Amino acid sequence: MTLRPILRWPDPRLSERAAPVGEVTEAIRLQAADMLETMYAAPGRGLAAPQIGVMNRLFVMDPTWKDGEPAPEVLIDPQVLWASADLEARDEGCLSIPGIVTRVARPSAVRLRWTTLEGETQERDFTGFAAACAQHELDHLDGIVTLDRLSSEDRTRALAEYAA
Ligand code: ZN
Repeated sequence: MTLRPILRWPDPRLSERAAPVGEVTEAIRLQAADMLETMYAAPGRGLAAPQIGVMNRLFVMDPTWKDGEPAPEVLIDPQVLWASADLEARDEGCLSIPGIVTRVARPSAVRLRWTTLEGETQERDFTGFAAACAQHELDHLDGIVTLDRLSSEDRTRALAEYAA
C-alpha cells in the first residue's frame, strides 16, 4: 500500500465531477487500500478519490475510528436513494482545506446504495455524524467542497482565514 498525496483546494480537480467506476478491478481494490491508509495517516475520517487526483466515484470513510472503534468502509459509485427533510448543521473539516472548519447544514439522515469492493450492491441508512461524513465525501465526487455550501459572507470569511 502507498500513501497518496492529498490535493489541496483550490486544485481544479477538486471542482470536477468524477466518472463512475463500473467494474471493480484489482486496480480499484488497490486504490481503495491506498486511500484507507492515506485517510488514517492524515489523520481523517473520510477521503474521496478526487482528493488524491483520481477522478472516479469512490470514497472511503471510517467515522468512528478516532473513538476507538475502527470500521473502514469503501463506497463505490454511491447514490443517494433518500434524504431526510430535516437538516442538521455540523462543523466540518476537510483534508483538502487544512485548518478550516465550516458549519454545513445537511440532511440528518440519508439512504445510500453503492457497490462494495466485492462488486456487490449494498444499501444502508446513515445517521448522525456518519450521515454528514458520507454526504461530505459524496460532494467531493461531484466537485463540491464545504466552501461551496456556505453563504457568500461565510465563504469570504473562510477564504480569508484559509489564505492567512
Ligand atoms: Zn473533504
